[in-house]
Amino acid sequence: MKKLCDLCSESKLGLGEKTPYGAVIVYKKNGWFATLSPKTGGNPEKDFTVQLMPVNHLNHISEISKSLNLAKSYGIAFSKISKAVTEIMSLESRGYENDEGVIRVGTYGKSKHPEEHFHIKIFPWAGKIGQPYTVDSTFEHSVRYADKDGKSFIKMEPVEKIIIKPERMHYLSSKLISLLK
Ligand SMILES: [Zn+2]
Repeated sequence: MKKLCDLCSESKLGLGEKTPYGAVIVYKKNGWFATLSPKTGGNPEKDFTVQLMPVNHLNHISEISKSLNLAKSYGIAFSKISKAVTEIMSLESRGYENDEGVIRVGTYGKSKHPEEHFHIKIFPWAGKIGQPYTVDSTFEHSVRYADKDGKSFIKMEPVEKIIIKPERMHYLSSKLISLLK
């Protein structure tokens, strides 16, 4: 018997339902579910994060390949959410925010303590939450500064998580649910 955790209880909620901390269920299919987070870094009028998680306890992304069906449904969920985020960004003309004029979707994932479901975050890669990360070659080309002790560093804009207004949460969650059908 697996021990039920908070995410296990979230996975039992239906589409459009809210978790105790205000995230909304926007996707639920074939062993996977996704929530729209109630807070976002960057601009709360434009930015948002969708979190994709397995319904069952999977500590690490490497475990997905044990089941062909789970791997397949993960790929489909990941692709569909990325597409939905792109469509919302396109409606909000967010491709105009970078020099290349392209819509970029960011992903970030990590595994947490053994009892948990690992999470993949999918979000508009723009503004403050679209700053170059260590794995990007643009990071390497960032201007280097030096500390008093001579240690070099790269400047980043601070990112603070801000609550998304109810109307915006309602718009985003309904849009995501309809795009992810
Ligand atoms: Zn759980």
